[in-house]
Amino acid sequence: MNQPFSNVFHRYNWGDIQQAIHAKTATDVERALCKTKLSTADFEALLSPAADNYLELMAQKSQALTQQRFGHTMQVYAPLYLSNVCSNICTYCGFSRNNKLRRKTLSETEIIAEAKALKTKNIDNILLVTGEAPKTVGATYLERAIRLLKPYFAQIAIEVQPLQPVEYRQLIDAGLHGVSLYQETYHRESYARHHLKGNKTDMIARLDAPGCVGEQGIHKIGLGVLLGLDDWRTDSIFCALHLRYLQKAYWQTRFSVSFPRLRPCTGDYAVEQPVGDRQLVQLITAWRLFAPISI
Ligand code: SF4
Repeated sequence: MNQPFSNVFHRYNWGDIQQAIHAKTATDVERALCKTKLSTADFEALLSPAADNYLELMAQKSQALTQQRFGHTMQVYAPLYLSNVCSNICTYCGFSRNNKLRRKTLSETEIIAEAKALKTKNIDNILLVTGEAPKTVGATYLERAIRLLKPYFAQIAIEVQPLQPVEYRQLIDAGLHGVSLYQETYHRESYARHHLKGNKTDMIARLDAPGCVGEQGIHKIGLGVLLGLDDWRTDSIFCALHLRYLQKAYWQTRFSVSFPRLRPCTGDYAVEQPVGDRQLVQLITAWRLFAPISI
């Protein structure tokens, strides 16, 4: 059993990392762009404001690396929303328990109808998405959904509440291929300010959840931060630390990083630190140069 990531997380200070990113210069960026294996300090340089002048070069290098590693193939997946019922209150999410909206959980017949509709679009990989509602969409419901969907799709992943180890095993045995668990933000105060009620208020449990999935030998784990919640640059460095920890601890598992950007939704949340298109390009290309993973 590996030590939990939260033990590693406690060794890093948000302010120090933020300061290091903003202190990076054009020379640091150019040095990082000459390397084939990037350190976390190089990644800081590529995420820094100083890298904004190098976007074109970053994009060209990133494209070349993508083609070298993945060829000209592109893997497409579709999210399949199974339920918008949620027991938690998160300020930025339309599914939040305090929002008044019609709640719906798909029946078995409806799940199969969705599968057939997706197959007509040649979709072969799906991501099952639910709110965090263990009583409504717990492991038993998810296992049933996976078993129903397995004949239709090559790969099935989930983006749901963190589960117990035995539940992950149950779903892997049913045919689960991957688990996405986004930290949303690694900034302690922001995390507390945006996660107001329910299991997701426990930041440490969230930090350690991907490791719990890794322990069960899942094929793929997806990480990410919610762009717009806090400083995307600093959050991305923490996500990189998380990734490096998991890669070392669970070397047989594959990893991916996603870039969910906050958009307007039901409720009165206004995005506090919006991430523009130019910044998103910087972020994606910096990740490609830093880590040979799916993005
Ligand atoms: S737990 Fe997930 S689905 Fe529920 S309100 Fe929070 S972000 Fe939305």
